[in-house]
Amino acid sequence: MKRYEIIHFPEYRKFTSDRKSNIIFDVTTSGISEIDDLTLEILQKWLIDEDEDAFRTRFLVESDDVPETMLDSSLRLISEHEEYGSLLQSREITWGYVPPDELDIGVLTLNLSERCQLACKYCFAGGGSYGSEMPVNMTQKVAFAAIDLLKKHGRKSGVNIGFFGGEPLLNWQVMKSTVEYAEIELAGIVDAISFNMTTNGIAITEEIAEFISQRAFSVMFSIDGSEEIHNELRPARGERKCTWGDTMRGLEICLKANIPTTVRPTITPQSESLSEMVDLFVKYGVKSINFQPLCSIETNMSLNHSELQAFTKQLCELSERKDIHIPLVEGFKRRIHSRYMSVWHCGLGSGGIVISPSGNVYPCHRFVGERQFESGNVLNGLNVEKLLGYRRDLHIKDIKGCRSCWMRYLCTGSCYAENNDENQELKTPNSNRCYINKTLIVNSIEWLLKLYQHTENDGVAQEIARV
Ligand code: SF4
Ligand code: SF4
Repeated sequence: MKRYEIIHFPEYRKFTSDRKSNIIFDVTTSGISEIDDLTLEILQKWLIDEDEDAFRTRFLVESDDVPETMLDSSLRLISEHEEYGSLLQSREITWGYVPPDELDIGVLTLNLSERCQLACKYCFAGGGSYGSEMPVNMTQKVAFAAIDLLKKHGRKSGVNIGFFGGEPLLNWQVMKSTVEYAEIELAGIVDAISFNMTTNGIAITEEIAEFISQRAFSVMFSIDGSEEIHNELRPARGERKCTWGDTMRGLEICLKANIPTTVRPTITPQSESLSEMVDLFVKYGVKSINFQPLCSIETNMSLNHSELQAFTKQLCELSERKDIHIPLVEGFKRRIHSRYMSVWHCGLGSGGIVISPSGNVYPCHRFVGERQFESGNVLNGLNVEKLLGYRRDLHIKDIKGCRSCWMRYLCTGSCYAENNDENQELKTPNSNRCYINKTLIVNSIEWLLKLYQHTENDGVAQEIARV
């Protein structure tokens, strides 16, 4: 017997329950409802566009053993779920999403430096230089011009400015002056500014941490686990190979300064178990770990299918741990609980752009240096039409195989850059990411089901706030 049963109308998925009722996951709303057999039968038989009175009359004729009182009680239940938004919402809402016709940039990423102290074995950026023979730093002129773009195209409700590389701290003075410039220039134009940087942590000092800790600024540390594995995968350039100690020193400085800090281990076949990594980082005071498996086939270090299965199984097991936040797992729980849905995987182009040191504009940091994705330059003008075009082309209904997938509004079709890595185009999902998302979404629904069935309202709110 199959574990899940697809029911075509209304579009939902039935889950098994430890009680006698049916658990229904509504595809268009991410709502989870618990209903009895009669209510389920009604949902299956009620036709699209059929008026309730017409359906009631027809159903009573076709099912002459169902008492009217029971039918009416089920119809009332459906109506309550409908009002609550967990069942029978219109599919038109989702298919009708229109792409923006103006840039609304909520995420601006500056590739501050093409230089890096490390030579990570799987680096997608060619050691930070993105294929450039002469790695350079971004100038202040380019960085300020990028911030100026936000005056016209920034999202009014708030923007996040990210610093990336190479290693962004190798251009610290420009990072610092850009933060201060953004705070002055965008005041009164956008309602909130936050910052983040992805770093190997080696160049962090107490002074840098002091500056960061005074603002809404989070730091993502690239650390691949234990000293042995990290040094193996992320060696330094030149003779001095070991980098783990320097990176951990930077991490400790940030944790001591109470900076929101996430560790991001890249998972390869060489990685140790995820729980060992959690134990290690929790000891240091880390509260969030963003495990990301290598999903690119450009290296020979991606996980094979059985390794991927083992990875997702471990992730699901970790979802019971309360001492660590794992965004890859908990993001889906939050999405489902809050009834999140989207038809795009990310803001690619219209909601998020990346600037290279020379000022070239790209829709994603993974596309920097690739001519086909170049979309203008901050000094000479943006190619607005090209940036807007990404979303127009990448609606979930246009992603191959996703249109009919029941979890499409939660998964949103896999990361376009990973799609491109594997399939040389944006519209075919990356097979590893598709597998991971499918497994984690089912795990999250089952986790939420248990929570809803065994916890009172306040407890649910507390548990969701924790993840
Ligand atoms: S990538 Fe896979 S899981 Fe995600 S929507 Fe597409 S088919 Fe579904
Ligand atoms: S395409 Fe992938 S890597 Fe690029 S911005 Fe979107 S989610 Fe991030």
